[in-house]
Amino acid sequence: MEACLAVEKEHTKVNQKLQSASQTISNKMEETINSLQSLRSSLANEEKPVLTDEEVQSVKSLISQVTSDVQSVSQTHKDMHASISKYGRIIDKYFMQDSKSVSSSITAQQNKASLSRAIYEHLLREGRMDVAETLLKEAGLSHEESFMTLFKDIHYIVQALRNRDVDPALRWVEGHRDELLRHGSSLEFKLKQRKYLLLLSLGQINEALSYAKELGDFSPLHNKEIQRLMGCLLFIRRGLESSPYSDLLDPWHWSDIIDTFTRDACYLLGLSLESPLAVSLAIGSAALPQLLHLQSVMIQRQMADVLSGRDELPCEIQLPWRYRYHSIFTCPILRQQTSESNPPVRLNCGHAISRDAMKKLVGHSGRLKCPYCPLEMMAKDVHILKF
Ligand SMILES: [Zn+2]
Repeated sequence: MEACLAVEKEHTKVNQKLQSASQTISNKMEETINSLQSLRSSLANEEKPVLTDEEVQSVKSLISQVTSDVQSVSQTHKDMHASISKYGRIIDKYFMQDSKSVSSSITAQQNKASLSRAIYEHLLREGRMDVAETLLKEAGLSHEESFMTLFKDIHYIVQALRNRDVDPALRWVEGHRDELLRHGSSLEFKLKQRKYLLLLSLGQINEALSYAKELGDFSPLHNKEIQRLMGCLLFIRRGLESSPYSDLLDPWHWSDIIDTFTRDACYLLGLSLESPLAVSLAIGSAALPQLLHLQSVMIQRQMADVLSGRDELPCEIQLPWRYRYHSIFTCPILRQQTSESNPPVRLNCGHAISRDAMKKLVGHSGRLKCPYCPLEMMAKDVHILKF
């Protein structure tokens, strides 16, 4: 926090300096241009081929004035650069710690391509199609028109929902109805409910009544909600806002419907709900301070190598629940987290250990004994565990 405040203070200072410098430069330039223009027009009015001594004097004095103005502008410009580079040094001082030793660097070409693709996907999710397209070209990524179209469609529908237009979303639902039903989605009901309420609020009672038939398809699952929607008809004249059904008009329903649509669309398209890049950055930022602290302690104790050359973290990092995606299995024998190269295995008795631990237990005959119960088994019968 202290670092943020120091940088913010410097930022305000630099910003003020830049603004005043920019004002000074633009005033000086304007003054110079005006003086030059007025001299030119006064000389142009003269019909004499030779300048008088007085005119020569005024040209000379203007030249020296312009020279001094240019020098002053150049000095102001230099001062601006000095402030900006000082600002950079302040950021370096507070934030630019060497994190290379606690993170694996992105060197291989394949990793760079994966990173570019993650940034590309993030930009598509943010709706920055133009920037994403430029990145695609500059990073030499393979172009998949269908991938971009997916995001364009999602953005178009979300934008329409923000403008309280449910029709594009309803058309999308029609094309994916079976998959949505299998997934147990209530998106279609929510959209049709909004459409019905929109018709009511526009005073189109007959249209709303005939549209209500569409809601009948969702009986009996949504019976209670359908009853409430029909109840709205009794309060049309008095106004729904002051009726017992006013909660149905809450703007919250629109954000809920956007959320439901985004979740369902991502699920059907096999995309994660949140941007993988944003999640990685959030998790990395949460883990980095702890790792840097550990690194400084290890360096003091001359044990810095504990942080490098491993594919597991040297300490436990507590992440918020929303970022916990996978179960972690720690081998009870080796007391190490399992990894791709050393996955967990399920012994025939049901006990689980890591594969490296199992290899240590296997005898010449290919048999092993569970370290927790006396059951003996053949190593080839043991299965890799996936969870
Ligand atoms: Zn066992």
